[in-house]
Amino acid sequence: MSDYLRLLRERVMIFDGAMGTQLMALDLTPDDFGGPRYNGCYEALVLSRPDIVRGIHEAYLAAGADVVETDSFTGSRLKLEEFGLGDRTEEVNRGAAQLARQACDAYSTPEWPRFVAGSMGPTGMLISSSDPSLSKITYEQLRDIYGEQARYLVEGGVDLLLLETMQDMLELKAAIAGIAREFRNGLRRVPIQAQPTLITDGRMLLGTDISAVCATLDALPVDVIGLNCSTGPAQMRDSIRYLCENSRCFVSVIPNAGLPIMGPKGETIYLESPEELASELADFVREFGVNAVGGCCGSTPAHIAALKAAVEAVPARRERLAS
Ligand SMILES: [Zn+2]
Repeated sequence: MSDYLRLLRERVMIFDGAMGTQLMALDLTPDDFGGPRYNGCYEALVLSRPDIVRGIHEAYLAAGADVVETDSFTGSRLKLEEFGLGDRTEEVNRGAAQLARQACDAYSTPEWPRFVAGSMGPTGMLISSSDPSLSKITYEQLRDIYGEQARYLVEGGVDLLLLETMQDMLELKAAIAGIAREFRNGLRRVPIQAQPTLITDGRMLLGTDISAVCATLDALPVDVIGLNCSTGPAQMRDSIRYLCENSRCFVSVIPNAGLPIMGPKGETIYLESPEELASELADFVREFGVNAVGGCCGSTPAHIAALKAAVEAVPARRERLAS
């Protein structure tokens, strides 16, 4: 069993906070991204400004995170190709894993090991959709795209693979199939953490409800099941309770710092303070026995520090259900 899964049995694991909104707050210039062509491609920073990416990892580790996520959320070949970086997919993902690995190794001690989660987000394609432009890709193509990214992340040194903010169950299944195939072909096995995102009515974008999410993922080679992004913790409460009561897997919850609202200049803002987010997540640990918590969009090192303090004070922990 991996050290990450072994520790999940013993205590609640704290994930880091947002990478994307932290980077956005830095007002980076096209030069930071390596030139105007790559402007806005946050994975390009792995190549052009590794110091910035590593600095964000270190800020979260200093705040008390047990797990940091690689800067590879939109690092699949398909997404990088949008910036003309498809042929650097290996370099970007290995580099993202190595940056997080170096930061974690600098903070790890035998008593407090830190872990790297290889982040993989949705491609934006929706194969379950009837929209011809969004569903113009095959299951096999998606499987191969995720398998490739997973391989580079694992070779770069991640401790687990995190499929997050997933909007379409069929894409999530393709991703898991792609990773499983890499494992069968000899890639070092690491845990898989699968996190759909639910819109405010408690369903995935294409309608899958939490009971279908749970039944589907429980039947796949997944170790941790959870939810992230889209909303704050309050909107996730019923779905998280359902997962904790029904899934055979460990359960993770990584909400945004509140339900996003639009600011005066059209910008997205997240209003939950570190203390608010931390106290709601500590309630999930206390009431339902959630195994891993963290912050998604709008969360900062201050949120993670508050989360660590709040969760450390909660003794309750859910046992994984027998499979
Ligand atoms: Zn988010």
